[in-house]
Formats: sequence, structure tokens, C-alpha cells
Amino acid sequence: MGRPTGITRARALRRIICVLSLLAGLAVLPATAGDPTALARLDPAASGVAAAGPDVRVTLAISQPVPWRAGLMATPPRLVLDFRELAFDGIDRPGFVTSPRVRALRSGTLQPGWTRLVLELDGPVRIAEAGMARRAEGPGAVLSLRLAAVDEAGFAEALAAAPPPQTPGLALPEAAAAEAAPKRRQTGEGPLVVVLDPGHGGIDPGAERDGLREADLMVAFARELREALIRAGGFRVVLTREEDVFVPLEARMSIARAAGADVLLSLHADALDAGVATGATVYTLAAEASDEVAAVLAERHDRADLLAGVDLSGQGDLIAEVLMDLARTETAPRSDRLARHLVGSIRTATGRMHRRPHQMANFTVLRAPDIPSALVELGFLSSPRDLAELRDPAWRERLAGGIVEALRAWAVEDAAEAALLRQ
Ligand SMILES: [Zn+2]
Repeated sequence: MGRPTGITRARALRRIICVLSLLAGLAVLPATAGDPTALARLDPAASGVAAAGPDVRVTLAISQPVPWRAGLMATPPRLVLDFRELAFDGIDRPGFVTSPRVRALRSGTLQPGWTRLVLELDGPVRIAEAGMARRAEGPGAVLSLRLAAVDEAGFAEALAAAPPPQTPGLALPEAAAAEAAPKRRQTGEGPLVVVLDPGHGGIDPGAERDGLREADLMVAFARELREALIRAGGFRVVLTREEDVFVPLEARMSIARAAGADVLLSLHADALDAGVATGATVYTLAAEASDEVAAVLAERHDRADLLAGVDLSGQGDLIAEVLMDLARTETAPRSDRLARHLVGSIRTATGRMHRRPHQMANFTVLRAPDIPSALVELGFLSSPRDLAELRDPAWRERLAGGIVEALRAWAVEDAAEAALLRQ
């Protein structure tokens, strides 16, 4: 599965100027009123996504009517359905999706109070029918949609008629924050503003092994690391999320910018099917991945955003891209130096790292042009040894200590270089 390079540069631009447009759009399909206080449940046995001739029929039987919204997204073509408080338990049962036109399905919590279902389709469609009705037999309601194939012109019309749902309460920073002037480089005076970004969350749980979810583990570790930084002194710490909520990758960067971040650390513990990766690994941004595994990780994170229903299809602007490339020219060596400190200090603190501890890939969350950024895979949930370490509070404490030490040493060296540049 190749990265769609055509949109990669366009995405770099939108990070700066229109982060908030990611989830813009108004639902045009009707919301059905229901009792918002009780949790509605899916009846998976009476629900499914099936072929209806050349069309796709989506049938969702639920225990009671709830407010819902439907919309379409492009690149890749997707149907996005948002519900007020609907539990999707059982949706992953075999046979739920039988239509060959559906490439992937993802469901889960978007934000507290709102759940989302995303169907990725093999080509453009329009919503030919959509409606919620009371069930003929038994209590509850049935939401029924029919998706019909269309050509590109028809898809453009369908997108305009049914843009992606705009979900209330999705916590994104103010637009002004995204448009703020580039951050002034830190000088060593005053606290270092560290933004910790626990990976995944909400509709995107990340890796899962032995009942452990990457999304939960990363929030817990980010809190521990925040404590360690505050105890050490000289740091101000901001987390991009503290709960099990979905935060789009570009919104994580805009949270960092709004916080006036001197440095961004994205925290992960992904799983790899091959199971060969083991040990902490530090990633920095590069257009070309250092190896296939790094490329897979970066692409998987972007794919999680797509499957959560984020719009990555915006258009680029050449001038803004050039300005960002200039900013990155200064930031990239600062990020590389950060990675070297992280590798040295984590190895000293924990005694072990990945056999190639500093790698590169095109991670969206690392693309802020003016904030030195690194993504740390604390370990891989697919490695039994890493999993045991991640579960061990004493090991995590050593790891946090190593990261504190790396940030402190980096800040001193970075400020010294800034002073030289100013002379
Ligand atoms: Zn991850």
C-alpha cells in the first residue's frame, strides 16, 4: 500500500493554515431525536453491511432511536456515520461485512458522547437512501442506508450534498493558535515547554496485546513522565490528550503550537506483525523512511486517521510550502540532536534499545516546521520482552528518568547553539 505522495505536500501546508478545516462541514441528512440519556446498543445479529445488487446496503438495528448524521469523505472514498452514544459491541463479528465493495470498517468513540462508524469503499459512491425507522418487530430502531456507485463527477456532487458530519465537542484548539507566528527558539531562560503526545485514543485504540491498549498505556506513561519532568524542575508540560479520546494527528501539532511548545515528543508502543522489532526506538521526520518497518509505522498512523474519518484531501499552496521547508531547515538538525540525546540517555537509563535506535520516517505528527519533534516507540507490544518491561513500573520510571535527562541535556546544547547563531 503506497503512500499517496500527491497529497503529502498538500498536507504539510494545511498544518499551518487550516488545521481546523479537517473536520469542517455540515450534516445535511436529518438527525432523529431520541432519549439522549440512555446508551443505545447495536443488535449485531440484525445488522450488517451487505451487497444489494451493485449497491451497498448498511443496516444497523439499534435498541432505541438516537441522533445520527451521515456524510461522505474522499481519498479514499468513505461513508462516515456519527451517533449520539451508540455502543458498537459485536460489530467485529465474522460476517458483519459481506459486501465486496467495503475495504475496511472502523468504529468507536470519537469524543465522549459521540461514536463513529467509518466504512472505506473501493470507489466513489453517493448516499442513495438513508433513514432511521422504528423496527417493525421488537423495540428499537433501524438505520438503513444504500450506497450507489457513481463516477467522479457524481462523487463531487455527492460530497457536496453530504459532507462529513461535524461532531459537536470535538476538542480542537482555536484557529488563532494555528495561525500564530512561529515560535521563538528557546534560549535556556525560563522553563522548557515540553508537549507530550500520547499516541492514538478513542476510535483509534492503537496496538492491543494481552488486554493492554497502546492508547491507554501511552496516557498513563505521559502522566508519569510529566510528574518526572515537574519533579526535575525547569519544565512546563502539556499533554495533547489526557483521556481516551480521538485527536487527529494534525490537531496534535496545533495543540503543541498553541502551547508554545519548545519540543514535541509523541509516545507510542505499536505492534508489528512480524514481531521482530524490540527495544525503544526514536524516530525523526524524513521524506524517505529509513527502512520498511519505519514506513509501515508512519503509514499505519496516517491510516488510523483516515479510518477515524479525518479529511486528508486538502489542496496545497506552493509559497507556504517553501516557507515551511525553510523553517524545517533549521528545525531538522535540532530534532536530530534531540534524537541523539534521547538514544544516549534511554540506553543509559534502561540498558537496552532497538538495534537501530534512531530511525526516520514521514510521520505526520512530526511535521511541525518550527517545533523540534521526535516520536518515541517506548517498545513494541508485539515483543514479549518489551510488553513485560512496559508493564513494569520500575522500568517505566527508569525510562522516564532517561527522557528527562535527554531533554535537559538537549535544551542546554540547543540554547548554546542559539546563542552562537545570534552573535
Ligand atoms: Zn502507535
